Amino acid sequence: MNPIRFERRRYTGGATPIERLARFSECLGGPTVYIKRDDQLGLAAGGNKTRKLEYLVADAIKQGADTLITCGAVQSNHCRLTLAAAVREGLSCQLVLSEPETGYQPHASGNHLLFHLMGAEKIEVIPADGDMQESMEKLAAALEREGRKAYLIPVGGSSEVGTLGYMACAEEIEQQSLELGIPFDYVVTATGSAGTQAGLIAGFAARQSSSSVIGINVSRDRESQEKKVQELLLSTAEFVGLKGELPASLVRCEDEYVGPGYAIPTAEMVEAVKLLARTEGILLDPVYTGKAMAGLIGLIRRGAFRKEDRVLFLHTGGTPALYTYADTFFSEM
Ligand SMILES: *Cc1c(COP(=O)(O)O)cnc(C)c1O
Repeated sequence: MNPIRFERRRYTGGATPIERLARFSECLGGPTVYIKRDDQLGLAAGGNKTRKLEYLVADAIKQGADTLITCGAVQSNHCRLTLAAAVREGLSCQLVLSEPETGYQPHASGNHLLFHLMGAEKIEVIPADGDMQESMEKLAAALEREGRKAYLIPVGGSSEVGTLGYMACAEEIEQQSLELGIPFDYVVTATGSAGTQAGLIAGFAARQSSSSVIGINVSRDRESQEKKVQELLLSTAEFVGLKGELPASLVRCEDEYVGPGYAIPTAEMVEAVKLLARTEGILLDPVYTGKAMAGLIGLIRRGAFRKEDRVLFLHTGGTPALYTYADTFFSEM
């Protein structure tokens, strides 16, 4: 990809660190595991959506928008970061949230608290089976009647434009890999709305890198998640002019660590969060990185890697949600 062709805002000072997890790796007795600290990206509390928003917000500004509208779960990291980017740019932000099965709690903590703290202009809660796209379009139409202009960002920021953020991340990893003299055989990431995984695959392919990407599902079964990533990979490839160079076989997703469903804790997730906290002093989140790390631990125990492999775990953020799961962790400690 020619990055000059796409406008980008900057929300992080430089590259996020890559750290070696010496104690954690030793504890598992498998390959050497490294971590890419995308939890340290810029904007409130960081996380992977910051990279997508660098391109999405640049596009919004170019189109003359004054308001960002997006949607997600009540504990959406993506909604938190979209709002933070809007605040940074002097734009307004409206959010559509889907009601959790347990009902909407107006004083819920974590990311939800931050929606209020950073001053979302409007928060609309719709039933779990409601159409979030339709609700966003209604909000946009209402703004248009007032002479304002909205920019709609899909769930997780996973449009072709948002996916550019993780193509750029793949370039950043390639650069760091050269500087550190460490070729990474595998990059392991949580995969949900698919932009992170699709962007990494496209970015590595554009650089002819030999790193392969493993996605650990947080909600869907293998087949539907692989299809989702493949579709976004193809449309992004077309968008950046890489068509034909990205075989669908590059997409690999593991679905054994989802548990009963999205955001529902599993014993493996609790073990993973505890292990990284107690060997490295690094915090994961229960919804994404905890399950992704449970996946990496499971693959290591299953002998999926050689001892000499170097595996890079992508820390995609999400830690504000950790505190809303206090009961889960106290009951398992
Ligand atoms: C959104 C999110 C993911 C998943 O990334 P996608 O690009 O949606 O697949 C992973 N981790 C965290 C913390 C997230 O907020």
